[in-house]
Amino acid sequence: EAKTRGRGRVAFFDVQLRERLQRYLELEQDLRAAVDHGELWLAYQPIVNLHSNRVAAVEGLLRWTHPRHGTVSPEEFIPMAEESDLIHSIGAWVLSTAVEQIATYRDKFDLDLRLKANLSVRQLEDPELPQAVDDALRASGLPAKALSLEITESALMHDPATAARMLQELRRYGVRLAIDDFGTGYSSLAQLLRLPLDSLKIDRSFINDIARSRDSEALVTSIMAMAHAVDLGVIAEGVENASQLAVLRRLGCDQAQGYYLGRPTPVHELAGTIEVANRRAIIE
Ligand code: C2E
Ligand code: MG
Ligand code: MG
Ligand code: MG
Repeated sequence: EAKTRGRGRVAFFDVQLRERLQRYLELEQDLRAAVDHGELWLAYQPIVNLHSNRVAAVEGLLRWTHPRHGTVSPEEFIPMAEESDLIHSIGAWVLSTAVEQIATYRDKFDLDLRLKANLSVRQLEDPELPQAVDDALRASGLPAKALSLEITESALMHDPATAARMLQELRRYGVRLAIDDFGTGYSSLAQLLRLPLDSLKIDRSFINDIARSRDSEALVTSIMAMAHAVDLGVIAEGVENASQLAVLRRLGCDQAQGYYLGRPTPVHELAGTIEVANRRAIIE
Protein backbone atom coordinates (compact mmCIF):
# COMPACT_ATOMS: atom_id res chain seq x y z
CA GLU A 1 0.00 0.00 0.00
CA ALA A 2 2.81 2.34 0.92
CA LYS A 3 4.35 1.50 -2.41
CA THR A 4 1.26 2.56 -4.34
CA ARG A 5 1.06 5.78 -2.39
CA GLY A 6 4.70 6.47 -3.13
CA ARG A 7 4.19 5.89 -6.81
CA GLY A 8 1.12 8.15 -6.75
CA ARG A 9 3.18 10.89 -5.24
CA VAL A 10 5.84 10.55 -7.90
CA ALA A 11 3.20 10.82 -10.61
CA PHE A 12 1.72 13.86 -8.86
CA PHE A 13 5.04 15.67 -8.74
CA ASP A 14 5.61 14.68 -12.33
CA VAL A 15 2.35 16.34 -13.39
CA GLN A 16 3.17 19.45 -11.36
CA LEU A 17 6.62 19.64 -12.86
CA ARG A 18 5.26 19.20 -16.37
CA GLU A 19 2.69 21.97 -15.78
CA ARG A 20 5.35 24.29 -14.43
CA LEU A 21 7.61 23.61 -17.39
CA GLN A 22 4.75 24.11 -19.82
CA ARG A 23 3.84 27.42 -18.23
CA TYR A 24 7.46 28.52 -18.29
CA LEU A 25 7.83 27.72 -21.99
CA GLU A 26 4.53 29.35 -22.86
CA LEU A 27 5.27 32.56 -20.97
CA GLU A 28 8.77 32.70 -22.35
CA GLN A 29 7.42 32.40 -25.86
CA ASP A 30 4.65 34.99 -25.33
CA LEU A 31 6.83 37.63 -23.69
CA ARG A 32 8.09 39.02 -26.98
CA ALA A 33 4.57 39.68 -28.23
CA ALA A 34 3.50 41.07 -24.85
CA VAL A 35 5.60 44.15 -25.43
CA ASP A 36 4.11 44.77 -28.89
CA HIS A 37 0.54 43.93 -27.85
CA GLY A 38 0.56 46.37 -24.94
CA GLU A 39 0.13 43.66 -22.29
CA LEU A 40 2.75 45.23 -20.02
CA TRP A 41 1.75 48.04 -17.70
CA LEU A 42 3.05 49.80 -14.62
CA ALA A 43 1.55 49.82 -11.15
CA TYR A 44 2.70 52.52 -8.72
CA GLN A 45 3.11 52.10 -4.98
CA PRO A 46 3.29 55.12 -2.65
CA ILE A 47 6.33 55.76 -0.47
CA VAL A 48 5.84 57.93 2.60
CA ASN A 49 8.41 60.32 4.01
CA LEU A 50 8.34 59.72 7.78
CA HIS A 51 9.62 63.20 8.61
CA SER A 52 6.93 65.12 6.70
CA ASN A 53 4.31 62.33 6.98
CA ARG A 54 3.47 62.76 3.31
CA VAL A 55 3.77 60.61 0.21
CA ALA A 56 7.05 61.72 -1.33
CA ALA A 57 7.51 59.15 -4.08
CA VAL A 58 6.02 56.23 -5.94
CA GLU A 59 7.76 53.09 -7.13
CA GLY A 60 6.92 51.85 -10.62
CA LEU A 61 6.34 48.08 -10.59
CA LEU A 62 5.98 46.15 -13.82
CA ARG A 63 2.88 44.04 -14.52
CA TRP A 64 2.02 41.67 -17.34
CA THR A 65 -1.60 40.83 -18.08
CA HIS A 66 -1.34 37.59 -20.04
CA PRO A 67 -4.39 36.75 -22.19
CA ARG A 68 -4.66 33.22 -20.72
CA HIS A 69 -2.74 33.28 -17.45
CA GLY A 70 -3.89 36.65 -16.13
CA THR A 71 -1.49 38.79 -14.12
CA VAL A 72 2.03 37.40 -14.14
CA SER A 73 4.49 38.56 -11.47
CA PRO A 74 7.70 40.34 -12.44
CA GLU A 75 9.51 37.83 -10.20
CA GLU A 76 8.48 35.26 -12.80
CA PHE A 77 9.00 37.05 -16.11
CA ILE A 78 11.89 39.47 -15.46
CA PRO A 79 14.32 36.51 -15.20
CA MET A 80 12.97 35.24 -18.55
CA ALA A 81 13.50 38.65 -20.10
CA GLU A 82 17.02 38.70 -18.66
CA GLU A 83 17.87 35.41 -20.32
CA SER A 84 16.98 36.78 -23.73
CA ASP A 85 17.72 40.27 -25.01
CA LEU A 86 14.13 41.29 -24.28
CA ILE A 87 15.21 42.89 -21.02
CA HIS A 88 16.65 45.79 -23.01
CA SER A 89 13.42 46.71 -24.82
CA ILE A 90 11.35 46.03 -21.69
CA GLY A 91 13.72 48.10 -19.56
CA ALA A 92 13.59 50.97 -22.06
CA TRP A 93 9.79 50.75 -22.16
CA VAL A 94 9.58 50.87 -18.35
CA LEU A 95 11.82 53.92 -18.13
CA SER A 96 10.13 55.98 -20.83
CA THR A 97 6.61 55.02 -19.73
CA ALA A 98 7.15 55.57 -15.99
CA VAL A 99 8.95 58.86 -16.49
CA GLU A 100 6.22 60.08 -18.87
CA GLN A 101 3.31 58.97 -16.64
CA ILE A 102 4.76 60.51 -13.48
CA ALA A 103 5.75 63.75 -15.25
CA THR A 104 2.12 64.04 -16.42
CA TYR A 105 0.81 63.19 -12.94
CA ARG A 106 3.02 65.85 -11.31
CA ASP A 107 1.77 68.48 -13.73
CA LYS A 108 -1.85 67.51 -13.30
CA PHE A 109 -1.78 67.62 -9.49
CA ASP A 110 0.99 70.20 -9.14
CA LEU A 111 2.91 67.81 -6.88
CA ASP A 112 6.61 67.31 -6.22
CA LEU A 113 6.35 63.53 -6.46
CA ARG A 114 9.47 61.47 -7.06
CA LEU A 115 9.67 58.33 -9.16
CA LYS A 116 11.57 55.16 -8.24
CA ALA A 117 12.21 52.68 -11.03
CA ASN A 118 13.91 49.30 -10.91
CA LEU A 119 16.92 48.41 -13.05
CA SER A 120 17.90 44.89 -14.02
CA VAL A 121 21.45 43.59 -13.62
CA ARG A 122 21.58 43.34 -17.43
CA GLN A 123 20.78 47.04 -17.85
CA LEU A 124 23.82 47.86 -15.69
CA GLU A 125 25.99 46.28 -18.40
CA ASP A 126 24.37 48.31 -21.19
CA PRO A 127 26.59 51.26 -22.20
CA GLU A 128 23.58 52.97 -23.77
CA LEU A 129 21.60 53.09 -20.52
CA PRO A 130 22.66 56.58 -19.35
CA GLN A 131 21.73 58.08 -22.72
CA ALA A 132 18.37 56.27 -22.66
CA VAL A 133 17.66 57.63 -19.18
CA ASP A 134 18.58 61.14 -20.26
CA ASP A 135 16.42 60.86 -23.41
CA ALA A 136 13.42 59.70 -21.36
CA LEU A 137 13.85 62.59 -18.91
CA ARG A 138 14.18 65.19 -21.67
CA ALA A 139 11.17 63.89 -23.60
CA SER A 140 8.96 64.02 -20.49
CA GLY A 141 10.29 67.11 -18.74
CA LEU A 142 10.76 65.20 -15.46
CA PRO A 143 13.71 66.74 -13.56
CA ALA A 144 16.59 64.28 -13.19
CA LYS A 145 16.64 64.69 -9.42
CA ALA A 146 13.03 63.47 -9.26
CA LEU A 147 14.13 60.08 -10.58
CA SER A 148 15.70 57.44 -8.36
CA LEU A 149 16.92 54.19 -9.90
CA GLU A 150 16.85 51.08 -7.72
CA ILE A 151 19.36 48.30 -8.14
CA THR A 152 19.26 45.19 -5.98
CA GLU A 153 22.19 44.43 -3.76
CA SER A 154 22.80 41.17 -5.61
CA ALA A 155 22.80 42.94 -9.01
CA LEU A 156 25.41 45.40 -7.70
CA MET A 157 27.58 42.58 -6.40
CA HIS A 158 27.35 40.53 -9.60
CA ASP A 159 30.12 42.62 -11.16
CA PRO A 160 30.95 45.44 -8.72
CA ALA A 161 33.49 47.19 -10.96
CA THR A 162 31.12 47.47 -13.94
CA ALA A 163 28.27 48.49 -11.65
CA ALA A 164 30.41 51.19 -10.04
CA ARG A 165 31.32 52.67 -13.44
CA MET A 166 27.69 52.65 -14.55
CA LEU A 167 26.49 54.32 -11.34
CA GLN A 168 29.15 57.06 -11.68
CA GLU A 169 27.97 57.67 -15.22
CA LEU A 170 24.27 57.78 -14.25
CA ARG A 171 25.11 60.10 -11.40
CA ARG A 172 26.56 62.62 -13.85
CA TYR A 173 23.09 63.00 -15.34
CA GLY A 174 21.71 63.99 -11.95
CA VAL A 175 19.54 60.98 -11.17
CA ARG A 176 19.53 59.44 -7.70
CA LEU A 177 20.56 55.89 -6.97
CA ALA A 178 19.31 53.42 -4.42
CA ILE A 179 20.29 49.93 -3.33
CA ASP A 180 17.23 47.65 -3.24
CA ASP A 181 16.55 44.55 -1.11
CA PHE A 182 19.44 45.43 1.18
CA GLY A 183 20.47 42.63 3.50
CA THR A 184 19.91 39.79 1.06
CA GLY A 185 23.07 40.03 -1.04
CA TYR A 186 26.11 39.42 1.17
CA SER A 187 27.88 42.56 -0.03
CA SER A 188 30.96 43.84 1.66
CA LEU A 189 30.46 47.19 3.31
CA ALA A 190 33.73 48.43 1.86
CA GLN A 191 32.45 47.76 -1.65
CA LEU A 192 29.11 49.44 -0.99
CA LEU A 193 30.72 52.57 0.42
CA ARG A 194 32.60 53.07 -2.83
CA LEU A 195 29.35 53.30 -4.82
CA PRO A 196 27.71 56.70 -5.35
CA LEU A 197 24.40 55.80 -3.68
CA ASP A 198 21.77 58.10 -2.17
CA SER A 199 19.60 55.65 -0.30
CA LEU A 200 19.23 52.12 0.92
CA LYS A 201 16.07 50.05 0.96
CA ILE A 202 15.92 47.50 3.74
CA ASP A 203 14.51 44.21 2.47
CA ARG A 204 11.03 43.37 3.67
CA SER A 205 12.22 40.15 5.30
CA PHE A 206 13.83 42.34 8.00
CA ILE A 207 10.74 44.50 8.44
CA ASN A 208 8.40 41.54 8.79
CA ASP A 209 9.28 40.76 12.45
CA ILE A 210 10.30 44.20 13.57
CA ALA A 211 7.34 44.77 15.90
CA ARG A 212 7.58 41.27 17.43
CA SER A 213 11.24 40.51 17.71
CA ARG A 214 13.96 42.41 19.58
CA ASP A 215 16.56 40.81 17.32
CA SER A 216 14.90 42.13 14.16
CA GLU A 217 14.62 45.56 15.70
CA ALA A 218 18.30 45.49 16.67
CA LEU A 219 19.27 44.43 13.17
CA VAL A 220 17.28 47.19 11.50
CA THR A 221 18.64 49.68 14.03
CA SER A 222 22.20 48.79 13.11
CA ILE A 223 21.57 48.85 9.36
CA MET A 224 20.06 52.30 9.79
CA ALA A 225 22.93 53.59 11.93
CA MET A 226 25.40 52.38 9.35
CA ALA A 227 23.46 53.92 6.45
CA HIS A 228 23.00 57.26 8.19
CA ALA A 229 26.68 57.36 9.13
CA VAL A 230 27.55 57.41 5.44
CA ASP A 231 24.69 59.79 4.56
CA LEU A 232 22.36 57.30 2.93
CA GLY A 233 18.61 57.77 3.31
CA VAL A 234 16.84 54.68 4.62
CA ILE A 235 13.61 53.26 3.21
CA ALA A 236 11.77 50.33 4.78
CA GLU A 237 9.83 48.09 2.39
CA GLY A 238 7.08 45.62 3.21
CA VAL A 239 5.37 47.65 5.95
CA GLU A 240 2.13 45.75 6.48
CA ASN A 241 0.71 47.18 9.70
CA ALA A 242 0.60 50.19 12.00
CA SER A 243 2.87 48.66 14.66
CA GLN A 244 5.69 48.13 12.16
CA LEU A 245 5.28 51.72 11.02
CA ALA A 246 5.41 52.98 14.62
CA VAL A 247 8.64 51.09 15.34
CA LEU A 248 10.27 52.39 12.14
CA ARG A 249 9.29 55.93 13.03
CA ARG A 250 10.71 55.56 16.54
CA LEU A 251 13.97 54.23 15.09
CA GLY A 252 14.31 57.26 12.81
CA CYS A 253 13.67 55.56 9.48
CA ASP A 254 13.33 58.14 6.67
CA GLN A 255 10.74 56.55 4.39
CA ALA A 256 8.33 53.63 4.38
CA GLN A 257 6.53 51.58 1.74
CA GLY A 258 4.17 48.65 2.06
CA TYR A 259 0.64 47.29 1.78
CA TYR A 260 -0.37 49.10 4.99
CA LEU A 261 0.26 52.45 3.33
CA GLY A 262 -0.89 51.43 -0.12
CA ARG A 263 -0.74 48.67 -2.70
CA PRO A 264 0.71 49.02 -6.19
CA THR A 265 -2.04 50.73 -8.25
CA PRO A 266 -2.66 51.55 -11.92
CA VAL A 267 -1.88 55.18 -12.66
CA HIS A 268 -5.54 56.16 -13.19
CA GLU A 269 -6.29 55.10 -9.58
CA LEU A 270 -3.10 56.50 -8.07
CA ALA A 271 -4.64 59.70 -6.67
CA GLY A 272 -6.95 57.69 -4.39
CA THR A 273 -4.11 55.43 -3.23
CA ILE A 274 -1.93 58.43 -2.42
CA GLU A 275 -4.77 60.06 -0.48
CA VAL A 276 -5.18 56.96 1.69
CA ALA A 277 -1.41 56.71 2.22
CA ASN A 278 -1.29 60.34 3.37
CA ARG A 279 -3.99 59.60 5.92
CA ARG A 280 -2.32 56.38 7.13
CA ALA A 281 0.98 58.22 7.48
CA ILE A 282 -0.47 60.49 10.14
CA ILE A 283 -2.85 58.22 12.08
CA GLU A 284 -1.23 55.48 14.09
P1 C2E B 1 11.16 45.32 -5.40
O1 C2E B 1 11.74 46.34 -6.28
O2 C2E B 1 11.84 45.03 -4.12
O3 C2E B 1 9.65 45.77 -5.18
C1 C2E B 1 8.94 45.56 -3.99
C2 C2E B 1 8.05 44.35 -4.11
O4 C2E B 1 7.40 44.12 -2.87
C3 C2E B 1 6.91 44.51 -5.13
O5 C2E B 1 6.63 43.23 -5.66
C4 C2E B 1 5.76 44.98 -4.25
O6 C2E B 1 4.49 44.74 -4.83
C5 C2E B 1 6.00 44.14 -3.03
N1 C2E B 1 5.43 44.74 -1.83
C6 C2E B 1 5.21 46.04 -1.55
N2 C2E B 1 4.70 46.21 -0.31
C7 C2E B 1 4.59 44.97 0.22
C8 C2E B 1 4.11 44.48 1.48
O7 C2E B 1 3.70 45.23 2.37
N3 C2E B 1 4.16 43.13 1.67
C9 C2E B 1 4.61 42.28 0.71
N4 C2E B 1 4.61 40.97 0.97
N5 C2E B 1 5.08 42.71 -0.49
C10 C2E B 1 5.06 44.04 -0.74
P2 C2E B 1 6.39 43.03 -7.22
O8 C2E B 1 5.65 44.20 -7.77
O9 C2E B 1 5.84 41.66 -7.41
O10 C2E B 1 7.85 43.08 -7.82
C11 C2E B 1 8.79 42.11 -7.45
C12 C2E B 1 10.16 42.49 -7.92
O11 C2E B 1 10.22 42.48 -9.35
C13 C2E B 1 10.60 43.89 -7.53
O12 C2E B 1 11.03 43.90 -6.18
C14 C2E B 1 11.71 44.12 -8.52
O13 C2E B 1 12.90 43.50 -8.09
C15 C2E B 1 11.18 43.39 -9.75
N6 C2E B 1 10.59 44.39 -10.66
C16 C2E B 1 9.38 44.98 -10.62
N7 C2E B 1 9.23 45.87 -11.63
C17 C2E B 1 10.40 45.85 -12.31
C18 C2E B 1 10.89 46.56 -13.46
O14 C2E B 1 10.24 47.44 -14.05
N8 C2E B 1 12.17 46.25 -13.88
C19 C2E B 1 12.94 45.32 -13.24
N9 C2E B 1 14.17 45.07 -13.73
N10 C2E B 1 12.52 44.66 -12.16
C20 C2E B 1 11.27 44.91 -11.70
MG1 MG C 1 12.45 48.22 -6.07
MG1 MG D 1 12.93 45.76 -2.71
MG1 MG E 1 12.38 42.60 -4.10
